[in-house]
Amino acid sequence: MQSGTDQEERLLRSVKTELFIGGTWRPSASDSTFEVVDPSTTQVLATVADATPADALDALQSASDAAESWANRSPRERGELLRRCFELTIERREELALLMTLEMGKPLAEARGEVTYAAEFLRWFSEEAVRAHGEYYLAPEGTMRIMTSRRPVGPSLLITPWNFPLAMATRKIAPALAAGCTVVLKPAELTPLTAHAFVGILEEIGLPPGVVNLISTSNPAAVTEPLLRDRRLRKLSFTGSTEVGRLLMAQAAPNLLRLSMELGGNAPFVIFDDADLDRAVEGVMVAKMRNMGEACTSANRIYVHESRVGEFSERLSQAMSSLRVGRGTEDGVQVGPLIEADAVTKVDSLVAEARERGARVLTGGRSFGPGYFYEPTVLKDVPVDARMAHEEIFGPVAPVFSFSDEDEVVALANSTEFGLVAYLYTQRLDRALRVIDRLETGMVGVNQGMVSNAAGPFGGVKHSGFGREGGFEGIDEYLETKYAAIAL
Ligand code: NAD
Repeated sequence: MQSGTDQEERLLRSVKTELFIGGTWRPSASDSTFEVVDPSTTQVLATVADATPADALDALQSASDAAESWANRSPRERGELLRRCFELTIERREELALLMTLEMGKPLAEARGEVTYAAEFLRWFSEEAVRAHGEYYLAPEGTMRIMTSRRPVGPSLLITPWNFPLAMATRKIAPALAAGCTVVLKPAELTPLTAHAFVGILEEIGLPPGVVNLISTSNPAAVTEPLLRDRRLRKLSFTGSTEVGRLLMAQAAPNLLRLSMELGGNAPFVIFDDADLDRAVEGVMVAKMRNMGEACTSANRIYVHESRVGEFSERLSQAMSSLRVGRGTEDGVQVGPLIEADAVTKVDSLVAEARERGARVLTGGRSFGPGYFYEPTVLKDVPVDARMAHEEIFGPVAPVFSFSDEDEVVALANSTEFGLVAYLYTQRLDRALRVIDRLETGMVGVNQGMVSNAAGPFGGVKHSGFGREGGFEGIDEYLETKYAAIAL
């Protein structure tokens, strides 16, 4: 499919690009818009409404007005609405996937996968909505009864990144709505179209006005700051960089907001001497190349036992060099562009620094255009203190390091302020269980390169943040426990 086909034009024209506040689409208060660009061509795809701080406060007012009646809807009713949303999202998979590919760049097959993954949060929390109950028990002294119930936190601000434009939104919206919270969604300015299309689905299923409000903006700092200060807001759920997460936590402190922080990663991928190398290469390809490496879960450092590192590096280079890079809408393309010019500059500088320090390029190592493309790259002999070992690469670059024993590799894996996910490949159960315990991360992939699943609790430790999305824990982020002490 070429840039600007009739199908693409029709799809882009069908997306409502205004703000969605109180159940109504409307322009920004300043009537301004901003452009959304296709990273594979650098052409403008569409313009969307650019919210002002006044629009954001209107959105919060709507969420606040709708809060009580939404909280009082029966859990079953809230669950059924989420279920309808799941079904319609799956029905619209092709449109949502194409839109995501156009604005974000990922290949269509991956975009379809993201729609399915995103929809699973709607299905999972449609089922969890009816299970958010409390307890009733006798106090140990036998003098009173203890009754707990779970109440929605209240109006929540949801801020999402550009790399998974749909899944990061449903991973927050679904548990919030299931818990009985109303929300203001602020999508990333680089990829707002998918969020606009998804909110169109929420409107179509008949979600009551004000339950979900959408404010796209090119100036997130100015638009979210007054919300964080406002007493009507009770919760911030943020997915994005550690740097911005830290800033938002400070801004949220005076208002004592409940917080969920899904931040950056620097995942180690550890391949022990007894690993099945076929599976390990396959796993690295998934963990490294999903989303062109632009994932918080991306394998950032690949540690291979010294006895296997030669063979592994060769096989990984072969696999990486056979990937087809191009516009994500084209048949057979496996790797799309990076999100913007700055992303290419950053990846270029990380590779240049590693090379200057003695790393060898086994394949790739160059950017090309038009569009923000970077070749799938494998680097060997990377010094352990190279910048790319400590920063998120966020691109299709795989640095390979070698290690000699378990203690050494555990120390290397943990030598980062991040703690989101780690991967380990071994066929020994005792080693796997021991290393799972020793890794300072919120999640571990064992003999597989992907941990994401709506039924699993996704989240990090250390500077990767706190809070869990998905799993049984996901709804807790939007609930408070109320306790009543009842005299006998
Ligand atoms: P980012 O922090 O630049 O932006 C994330 C969101 O915050 C966007 O919506 C952006 O508009 C908004 N934002 C930016 N500055 C802001 C400010 N001053 N005030 C209010 N909002 C602001 O991150 P990004 O480049 O969009 O996303 C990539 C980052 O997200 C990576 O670090 C990645 O690891 C992380 N991420 C984490 C997870 C996770 O679950 N842990 C998932 C996906 C991405």
